[in-house]
Amino acid sequence: MKLYNTLTKTVEDFVPYDKNRVTMYTCGPTVYHYAHIGNLRTYIFEDILEKTLNYVGYKVDRVMNITDVGHLASDADTGEDKMLKGAKREHKTVLEIADFYTNAFKRDSEKLNITWPKTVSKATDNIDEYIKIITTLLEKGFAYQAGGNVYFDTSKLTDYYKLTGHKEDELVVGVREGVEHDDSKHNQADFVLWFTKSKFEDQELKWDSPWGYGYPGWHIECSGISLKYLGEYLDIHCGGVDNIFPHHTNEIAQSESYLGHKWCNYWVHGEHLNDINGKMSKSKGEFLTVSLLEEKGYDPIVYRFMCLQSHYRKVLTFSYDALDNANIAYQKLKNRISSLDSNGSIDEPSCQKYLAKFKEALTNDLNTSLALTVLYDTLKSELSNVSKLYVIKEMDKVLSLKLIEANKQNISADLEQYINDKIAERNDAKKNKNFALADFIRDELKDKGIIIKDTREGTIYEVL
Ligand code: AMP
Ligand code: ZN
Repeated sequence: MKLYNTLTKTVEDFVPYDKNRVTMYTCGPTVYHYAHIGNLRTYIFEDILEKTLNYVGYKVDRVMNITDVGHLASDADTGEDKMLKGAKREHKTVLEIADFYTNAFKRDSEKLNITWPKTVSKATDNIDEYIKIITTLLEKGFAYQAGGNVYFDTSKLTDYYKLTGHKEDELVVGVREGVEHDDSKHNQADFVLWFTKSKFEDQELKWDSPWGYGYPGWHIECSGISLKYLGEYLDIHCGGVDNIFPHHTNEIAQSESYLGHKWCNYWVHGEHLNDINGKMSKSKGEFLTVSLLEEKGYDPIVYRFMCLQSHYRKVLTFSYDALDNANIAYQKLKNRISSLDSNGSIDEPSCQKYLAKFKEALTNDLNTSLALTVLYDTLKSELSNVSKLYVIKEMDKVLSLKLIEANKQNISADLEQYINDKIAERNDAKKNKNFALADFIRDELKDKGIIIKDTREGTIYEVL
């Protein structure tokens, strides 16, 4: 598996800390509003990464946070808390807003066939963890208290900018949108670990801490949640490119200062989706959401298909023309696949040839457009229909484009009876230790495009 690593600025061979288990952390949404389809492009790329890792045999432990406190209007810790802004906008409490938009995000993810990570944790559920880390950072001299807040002291690090590769003066936080000058900071790049002083007296969510009643900064949340659930050594950390600075830069600073050793080896970032006016926004221009696409008659999965047509490290510009083209291509593809009958038998070695190419494309820094080309090559190939269905089904474990749903059902009662009889016959053979006959029946079914699997609950089958 090769991946582009923002830390080294090269495509590298992926070698996890533990060869049997990959730890993966992905920054989750700030749940103050619906996700726009730009945000969701990032989650689609992360989903493809996780599924590719699974496909090539890794067990992936993935964690995502839900930011429900501490993310201010500017990523550089100034302005109003985004959650509070959402609550005011809708005359609701912060917790109501968080619940509502977390559920909306979950529904959008489902519609795009994005698998919900195994562990999803709310920022507000891990306050003790942040307090523990900040306490250690203060003890070790990496943090200081000033003006009521606790700040990370970036001057204590010689490699604070190692993720961005930029020089200090090119990235001072002052150049970012909506940033106000904070006199309490010792250095412009310092960032807040714990706020007790908010300009906004109505800040709803606050907790007791050794430094006063307050709330955590945004960056400490991801370090805290990652360290708590995935331990001291992280293989992969993902997000959109806007997260590189300051968010991920600050995560590295605080996590490695806290741990006293290197933390994460691979930093993988997805490029943005822009609209024709440039940066995608939730407040200006058309607010592009999954629901809006549905209202306009698009199947959300078409947007996933459009994302997979381009490389995750290339800027993608959204337009309805581009989505229409993706829609036409997707419908054509689905039609071609649904016209495949289950005739012929599965030629395993030939199927593996196509699957090997597919795997090669994906393991080369997630080349999804090449993976789609291999899918089209499979359709054009000399393979039997049932072999094609078998290959496409395998591919769709990663692509998740609902490619052969339509073929699954439509099993006649006769066929169902036949399969059940064969399974019963095979079970008898196994009971009588006639494994050769049991294998023969399994292969006989496979040749007809019927794949059987023995599970603890009994034998199940799938018709390709
Ligand atoms: P947020 O909810 O603002 O914390 O962002 C959620 C995720 O979306 C983060 O990983 C961002 O890096 C990512 N993101 C923000 N804007 C875009 C965009 N226009 N295109 C792709 N990803 C984005
Ligand atoms: Zn994060």
